[in-house]
Amino acid sequence: MAELQSVEAALAALLHGVAPTPPESLSCDAAAGRVLAEAIEARLDVPAFDNSAMDGYALHHRDAGKRLPVAQRIAAGSPAAPLAPGTCARIFTGGEIPPGADCVVMQERVEVVADLAAIPPDIPAGDNVRRRGRDVTAGAPLLPAGERLEAAALGHLAGQGITEVVVRRRPRVALLSTGDEIVDPGQPLAAGQIYNSNRPMLRRLLERFGAELTLITSIPDDPAGTRETLSAAAQEADLVISTGGVSVGEEDHVKAALASLGQLDLWRLAIRPGKPLALGRLPGREGREVRFVGLPGNPVSCFVGAWLFLRPLLGALQGCPALAQLPCLRARAGFSTQTGPRRHYMRVMLEFGEDGVLARAFRDQNSGVLSSCISADALAVVPAQSRIEPGDPVDCLWLRVE
Ligand code: AMP
Ligand code: MG
Repeated sequence: MAELQSVEAALAALLHGVAPTPPESLSCDAAAGRVLAEAIEARLDVPAFDNSAMDGYALHHRDAGKRLPVAQRIAAGSPAAPLAPGTCARIFTGGEIPPGADCVVMQERVEVVADLAAIPPDIPAGDNVRRRGRDVTAGAPLLPAGERLEAAALGHLAGQGITEVVVRRRPRVALLSTGDEIVDPGQPLAAGQIYNSNRPMLRRLLERFGAELTLITSIPDDPAGTRETLSAAAQEADLVISTGGVSVGEEDHVKAALASLGQLDLWRLAIRPGKPLALGRLPGREGREVRFVGLPGNPVSCFVGAWLFLRPLLGALQGCPALAQLPCLRARAGFSTQTGPRRHYMRVMLEFGEDGVLARAFRDQNSGVLSSCISADALAVVPAQSRIEPGDPVDCLWLRVE
């Protein structure tokens, strides 16, 4: 029996030569969750003008400690007139600092008697002033290519008055199921049949990873139908994914069809769960090469495989490093375990305490137990040939992030 192979080697083979999808121009509203195809430069200073961080009184710091007449009232959104020395301005949060003023005193510290504002002493220049350009300077980089447009980035774009961006087209994915025993929910179950759990699970994960599911179907259980389905899937998709039927030595038409249409490598990974993995290439439209990933049928293996391989692949297809990189944090083990020749990805719950993060293992780590993935916050990575005792450090791949 050949040696088991590493996740890293399989991932390198999978990602080798993957190019991002073509760019497209979208309105910012439609671009939420998309990945920038090009870097964006700031057009405007943000803030656009010096403005007040407080409701209070604007003055020149030389006039601190004096009683000053209130010469004008500046609300956010209205222009400020120049301020004469020896006067102050009533000002509100976001109001423009008038020329001649350089600080703001919060209203709680100012007493107004007979139209004179009593300003406390020793107010430093710049106090409670939001300086023009403090957040963003016109001409400076605003967002890099590869940035996924999440909440704050969308706010940042709007702050520049930007309405359109160039983003990566969502990778088109064909999701295929194999297995005579697999039935769609809604259909009756005959003896020995089970419902298709992998399809909705992968669909949700893939959408989280930025994919557009363009074909969702089952692979028929005959050579000609299998060939036809795979070939058709590759015409429309950037990526073809199947579940089930990748165990070595298994009777399976997918392998034969892939080998004859394109290329297929079967991997036996030194991991638990998720040992078998099929990686291949199919001919797509206009001579394009379309990636094929065959995940194991076992739903837990499928889930783990999607996290380990599909997330980085979708990241590469969108040119998005944050997606390609699996978020990892270090925790203390709240369990003991021992591994053999395979690295173990344990489903764990994370507890954030005063003395750090504790990883508690789901009670049943069997690869047939999908409920372990529901409550799992992370996959604790236990290296091969190792022993973990409670309190030992353990790296955890955090599942609760996009
Ligand atoms: P396979 O990888 O085809 O050998 O399948 C491994 C196990 O996963 C078998 O028990 C299958 O019945 C089960 N399985 C395969 N595909 C699915 C699916 N889509 N949903 C639920 N279980 C599946
Ligand atoms: Mg099968």
